[in-house]
Amino acid sequence: MASLRVLPSIDECLRAASLMPTLAGLRHSYLKLMVQRALTGVRKALIADEKGVDANRAAIVDAVAREVERSVAADEPALRPVVNATGVVLHTNLGRAILAESAIEAVEEAARSAVNLEYDLESGSRGDRDALVEDEICALTGAEAATVVNNNAAAVVLALNSLADGREVVVSRGEMIEIGGSFRLPDVMAKSGARLREVATTNRTHSRDYADAIGADTALLMKVHPSNYRVVGFTSDVTLKDLVEIGRERGIEVMEDLGSGALIDLGQFGLPREPIVSERVATGAGIVTFSGDKLLGGPQAGVIVGKRALIDRIKRNPLKRALRCDKLTLAALSATLRLYLRSADLASELPTLRFLGRSIGEIRSLAPRVRDILAERLGPEFKIEIVEASSAVGSGALPEQELPTVAVAVTHRAKSPNSIAAMFRRARIIGRIADDAFQLDLRTVENPAVFAVSFITD
Ligand SMILES: *Cc1c(COP(=O)(O)O)cnc(C)c1O
Repeated sequence: MASLRVLPSIDECLRAASLMPTLAGLRHSYLKLMVQRALTGVRKALIADEKGVDANRAAIVDAVAREVERSVAADEPALRPVVNATGVVLHTNLGRAILAESAIEAVEEAARSAVNLEYDLESGSRGDRDALVEDEICALTGAEAATVVNNNAAAVVLALNSLADGREVVVSRGEMIEIGGSFRLPDVMAKSGARLREVATTNRTHSRDYADAIGADTALLMKVHPSNYRVVGFTSDVTLKDLVEIGRERGIEVMEDLGSGALIDLGQFGLPREPIVSERVATGAGIVTFSGDKLLGGPQAGVIVGKRALIDRIKRNPLKRALRCDKLTLAALSATLRLYLRSADLASELPTLRFLGRSIGEIRSLAPRVRDILAERLGPEFKIEIVEASSAVGSGALPEQELPTVAVAVTHRAKSPNSIAAMFRRARIIGRIADDAFQLDLRTVENPAVFAVSFITD
């Protein structure tokens, strides 16, 4: 490893950068930020001992100044488009659902203009922002009432805090989940103020486990969709319907965290059934929560549907004010829900459903063109093959479901799949490593031209 002692100070680099004619006149705070970033990059490269890093103080100062010049000229926003060739349709780290065109237009309009966010256009008085989407959500789910917050985690916290603060919520050990991104049910429950009452065992839960746990302090019985894991083998489970029946006998409401929350039957796309919100509501559950940006295919949001009296309590909670959605989210959600209600061809208008429903033949038809583009861009040193593979829904929906797909595999005699992945990342293309190759899954790629970029193959 080259010695980090050769690293120049920020001030040294800043002086050098500010002498460059192309950087003259920039705000000091901006220039300093860019210098810090460039220096961090050089430090990382030194630690990794990458070739091309000249471990000489003057050369580093010069390299930093040139990197600052490049990044200032590029002026890239922090959040930038990438190509999702991972095969994961709802990739949380890549922003989950791609919005429908009509939702994108609605967001743009709401961003550009004043809107009737909380303004009743008929009476001229203050309105309720939930009213923008509530009727549509109820029409699509059969619920009496609905409210919307920033994400499903917020929906769960808000519902629990509104309905069970300081009291007990009964949950099966088989549903004590942690999903990615630090959503752990026991922690979420603790923060909500509700007390977790764990019952049953990891693999087997019976009706009497819930019934025996109900006492004077019980506020809710809760079911949680296990999302990205499955209990298999010697198992038993209490259905939501049966749980609602137990609750009814004892006068206790049932809440379900449904996670992904499909609004329609995915069977029409050849996918196994994921629970549909309307069916869950129809069981008589008091509250069902789900995400806006998973199978629904809309913006990040948490939807809470259920009985009016319970939703009213949730809306009156001061936490609702802290967790409410902004106009852009509501614009996108409203437009997405309108598609569900009005579109004659939802499966092609909503990108999430379009990607999930794509036939293997359609995906395969893109592959030769992608292969040719990459062959031309990467040169003969790289081997590029079309392979059969499998993609995933993502975000905890249908975790065991493998969707047959076609990928383009890129390998090189001397470069590891990891280093090929890094090369593609520099071109903002995110793929995956499988079968000892870097693969580009074409399920979520619609235009092969996205691969017509310049690669730095060093
Ligand atoms: C995804 C998921 C959440 C979290 O939803 P976000 O919208 O990401 O906040 C909570 N519970 C379950 C069961 C989930 O699948």
